[in-house]
Amino acid sequence: MYPFTREKLKDWAGQDALRRAEMLVDHGRVRGLKSLPRRLEGLIEARPRDIVCAVAFPKESGLPDNQCPCRDNREMGLFCHHAVALCLEQLNIQEDPVRLKKLMEERKRAERIASTSEEDYLTRVPAGTPGSIAIRLCLRFPEEIRTLWWGESIPVQIQVEHQGQRAHIHEVRSDLKVSLPQQEDNLLFVLEDIAEGPVPNELELSRADLANVLELMSGMRVWFERTRAGSRRNRCPPRWCWD
Ligand SMILES: [Zn+2]
Repeated sequence: MYPFTREKLKDWAGQDALRRAEMLVDHGRVRGLKSLPRRLEGLIEARPRDIVCAVAFPKESGLPDNQCPCRDNREMGLFCHHAVALCLEQLNIQEDPVRLKKLMEERKRAERIASTSEEDYLTRVPAGTPGSIAIRLCLRFPEEIRTLWWGESIPVQIQVEHQGQRAHIHEVRSDLKVSLPQQEDNLLFVLEDIAEGPVPNELELSRADLANVLELMSGMRVWFERTRAGSRRNRCPPRWCWD
């Protein structure tokens, strides 16, 4: 628990800074708050550049130690609205479990991004970018999907197609710039979210994820791995394909 309330923040910073801090919080400009013992850290989205702000609460003084790099603090020694915004965000999180959950997800995502290399992702650019190649995203499902549906997860092969040739997604060279149709680009973002990082060649989908993915694939071709002899092509809708 931190040694402040909204009233206390108003005493320390004044009505004007409190109001500006409330605006930052209301507009979602406080990112990745870290609630450390007797210390808050976070990023304030600001113009012309973001501010990495911190404020500590030393036990002895009972007063906040503002470590914000902004001019209000450095040159005028004010308890600036950035520091107040961190405090308000903390109060909101304490009072609102949904906000806390969102923060935890944001932190997890930031850690994930920090631990993966950009090279593990496809270098995606808008269609028509000079030097880029247009590819398609292909998801290949196991043929026995109906029985697997009741299992823990369903393995899906993630492939890309270029000029009629298909390859696993990690076979695409990291120095190539590629473009995907918008729907497939969105789908790839969702798959990266499910994978919590770059999409592997084979991704295990839970039933809920699979339902979500199939919905996003509306109108796209669905490929199945052929695992048994014989073609069942005629029994399927025309956009469902086997090799
Ligand atoms: Zn500041």
